[in-house]
Amino acid sequence: MKIKFILVLIVISLTSGNLFAQEKEKDPIIENIIKEANENSQLELLGHQLLDVIGPRLVGTPQMQDAHNWAVAKYKSWNISAKNEKWGEWRGWERGITHIDMVYPRVQTLDGTQLAWNPSTSDKGVKAEVIILPTVKDSIWFQNWIKNVKGKIVLVSRKEPTGRPDYNWEKFATDESFEKMKKEREEQTKAWKENIESTGYTSRTIITALEEAGAVGIVSSYWSKGFGVNKIFSAGTKKIPQVEMELEDYTMIYRLVENGVKPEIQIVAKSKELGRVPTFNTIAEIKGSEKPNEYVILFAHFDSWDGGTGATDNGTGTLVMLEAMRILKKMYPNPKRTILVGHWGSEEQGLNGSGAFVQDHPEIVKNIQAVFNQDNGTGRVVKISGAGYLNSYEYINQWLSAVPGNIIKQIKTDFPGLPSGGGSDNASFNIAGAPSFGLYSLSWDYWNYTWHTNRDTYDKIIFDDVRNNVILTAILAYMASEDGNKTSNERRILPFNPETGEQITWPKQRTPNRDGGLD
Ligand SMILES: [Zn+2]
Repeated sequence: MKIKFILVLIVISLTSGNLFAQEKEKDPIIENIIKEANENSQLELLGHQLLDVIGPRLVGTPQMQDAHNWAVAKYKSWNISAKNEKWGEWRGWERGITHIDMVYPRVQTLDGTQLAWNPSTSDKGVKAEVIILPTVKDSIWFQNWIKNVKGKIVLVSRKEPTGRPDYNWEKFATDESFEKMKKEREEQTKAWKENIESTGYTSRTIITALEEAGAVGIVSSYWSKGFGVNKIFSAGTKKIPQVEMELEDYTMIYRLVENGVKPEIQIVAKSKELGRVPTFNTIAEIKGSEKPNEYVILFAHFDSWDGGTGATDNGTGTLVMLEAMRILKKMYPNPKRTILVGHWGSEEQGLNGSGAFVQDHPEIVKNIQAVFNQDNGTGRVVKISGAGYLNSYEYINQWLSAVPGNIIKQIKTDFPGLPSGGGSDNASFNIAGAPSFGLYSLSWDYWNYTWHTNRDTYDKIIFDDVRNNVILTAILAYMASEDGNKTSNERRILPFNPETGEQITWPKQRTPNRDGGLD
């Protein structure tokens, strides 16, 4: 793999009086894009409306639909044609109030929330003694023990030995103490896994077994290895409540059970089943004036998990594309090629919205100049990969040469790179052979602190970095649209994986799920 730093370009752009640098400064469209992004930014307002007012955007929820309608109305207010395009149906569900209280041995309100698609409790909820999983001899022994869960609320996650992230230990602990904790944690993790295996179930199927055995509630805790962060996904139960509880409260309840105190908790978790609802992608476009049937596509998935408000996954990618389109329409209203934006639904359940778009629009997919996706948080873009396209080196570098030096100096490129593995929607286009590229951001502790967590909220957005990405994206779209040549989508021969010794293969076509969550 050949990694090139675009040092040459930085040197050129920093050399005053250089012809190339002068030429770059002279392009009034680029100057206007930068000026508009910096002096008339709409990012903070758009972010507030999308994240604070509309909220998280789980597929099948009314909030997802509100977001689609809001985006179409925004585009129309900027004179950009936009529509919601149906691609499937999903189980409709709406989150309600979650309230979890310890009622014995003392009263304390606990931090936690119902997991997605969990059915509602009654207004009074369930109140019961809490129990933990025992040390299991084997599956027969467990089948006998499981009768004990009748009428109880069961804790199904491991008890973390520490609520402090490793970086905090590293800073303050003695070496011996840090090593000791890590060793204990490793042993406990291993023992927990083996114990679950001994039950004859997996960590997912055991929840069904407990529900069938008469448990009245399930409490889980998926710590995200940072202060105050848990990952929030969907419930494993069919009828009883399943709540995700933050580490601090979860470990306290666990210790109370271990020490024979027999704590009781009450769970009220209201939600609404909304039957089968349609699912959409929001599509908007600025029609090309010379080559309307060739496309530059900008996109970011629109949906999110709902433990927070989906601010960095993928509110920030969404904001980049919205704002880039607004600015392009204002400063470059007659692009040579059509500039299309896709705000995909249901990326989180398997790239479903983007996969459906690729399937439904072969006429667009075969005429793509370039696709740009942003989906890993709020940070400045620091990496662009050629995604396995042999000649991407030429055209991407040419387009990047128009980007201001302060933005480009942070970007590492990797040509020809490797195809996108399936972590985000550019894979849907990559599979179909369209030159599609991810704009990869600086982490800002994305994986632990915001990705799919209860803390993925507006306050984590670094707006200056997002503005940087708006300028980059708008200029890339402009340059790709203006390019005198159609891009090549010739693929490289993929290298051998040094670990397995086998040749890496192109990802295979996958079928989007157009009928989700209903069985
Ligand atoms: Zn995402």
